Amino acid sequence: MESIKNSSVRVRFAPSPTGTLHIGGLRTALFNYLFARHHGGTFLVRIEDTDKERSKKEYKDAQMASLEWAGIISDEPLVFQSQRMDVYEALLNTLIEQKKVYRCTCTDQEREDRARAAGHTDNFYAYDNFCRNTAVRADCGIPFVLRFAVPKTCTEIKVDDLIRGTVVFQKEQFDDFIIVRSDGSPTYNFVVVVDDNFMNITHIIRGEEHLVNTPKQILLAQVCGFPLPQFAHIPLILSPNGGKLSKRDGSVDVLQYKKDGYLPDALVNYIARLGWAYGDQEIFTRQELIQFFTLKGVGKKSAVFDMKKLDWVNSLYIKKLSSSDCAKWLKKDVCEFLFENTLSWSDETREKIIAIYQERATIGLELCTMIMEFYKGPDQYEADAVEKWLNKEVMNHLALLKVQWGVLEEFEHEVIKTTIKEFCTQHDVKLGVLAQPIRIALTGGTESPGVFDLLAVLGKEESIKRIDRLLASGVVKN
Ligand code: GLU
Repeated sequence: MESIKNSSVRVRFAPSPTGTLHIGGLRTALFNYLFARHHGGTFLVRIEDTDKERSKKEYKDAQMASLEWAGIISDEPLVFQSQRMDVYEALLNTLIEQKKVYRCTCTDQEREDRARAAGHTDNFYAYDNFCRNTAVRADCGIPFVLRFAVPKTCTEIKVDDLIRGTVVFQKEQFDDFIIVRSDGSPTYNFVVVVDDNFMNITHIIRGEEHLVNTPKQILLAQVCGFPLPQFAHIPLILSPNGGKLSKRDGSVDVLQYKKDGYLPDALVNYIARLGWAYGDQEIFTRQELIQFFTLKGVGKKSAVFDMKKLDWVNSLYIKKLSSSDCAKWLKKDVCEFLFENTLSWSDETREKIIAIYQERATIGLELCTMIMEFYKGPDQYEADAVEKWLNKEVMNHLALLKVQWGVLEEFEHEVIKTTIKEFCTQHDVKLGVLAQPIRIALTGGTESPGVFDLLAVLGKEESIKRIDRLLASGVVKN
């Protein structure tokens, strides 16, 4: 374990608020957060909102709500790139003066014509640095971009990646790239470097798709005289069929997971294992994740998102909750309707029912649906169950049994159990032969929690009502 606490560690999660937060983004945030916590360092969030058209406040709010729900919270106030335009501009002016950045008025057509004339046949030609020495003036009257003048001495850029090892990029792989568009907006590669320096970021942990940007960012940082952070590019998350993770495979808004009834700790536990491993261990408390998380444990191979496994992890976390915590969680995050629509139950009864059903559900919404159905009682009975377990004799037994229940003073688990067992002995029937029909009466089928538990929580009156309903249903012909 890397146990040395190094409080100088500063990492950031830098979402662009152009959509909601999905699983991939949450995992990047989580790895940064765990890395910071593991080293006793600082976890920061920066909003990369320079794209005015696509950035929306509601996306930023939704992203922050997702992080908050997952318990991944910035240690310092959020940094917004849109509020730092003056800083970028001042630095750009200096860089232009120093000739490290230059204005370029070349249109796409001009660039293409020159490339064709120079013999390029495909569409992938580098910029020919035409404007590099032309000293275009700011008041030239035609649109221009700002390009970064890649230093002549540069032949290759080495990225020492903490996950991928050394990755070498040849200078031919990039040209004098644009750092300010013709509408005056700075590009991602430029502002990211300025802000990582401003925020004293020591480690950049982000998705593998950004590895190609890293040589450009290293060059920019060197030219600006900024110290270089360390880089770690984490592998992609793929769908089970090996393709890009899509909505169908589970790449939905994190807040949808909240609404569906995934517990934040369960989702965090599951996604921590996407690309990171600690032996064969699957279930981790938050504290263990912090204690065990290292970049050494992150592999180079893509991770595969497995909804079934997430459901399994979630079901374990649901089981572990106390029934009162489970009730609180369902009410707050998942299904307030359950509480509004089961008003004849006391809080205590509802909690008892939650406790009974808790271990049978994989997600909160499913748990609420099961409980709602139980509350309403069956409006029809499963044909197979009826066929297998009900006949005239059984119906007669149920009719007799409910009369016996009617006189019971106490209607709780042990009393009910004893009554039913005695009834079975008296009438020479096996317990299962009677228990299954009772289940059918209470729930409509035979897949349900223990029958004594169900009777006890429903209470005498409602239990008898449900038996009566089955008897009057006509599912068994006279
Ligand atoms: N805004 C970038 C993104 O959302 C962040 C990239 C980075 O971490 O440098 O992908």
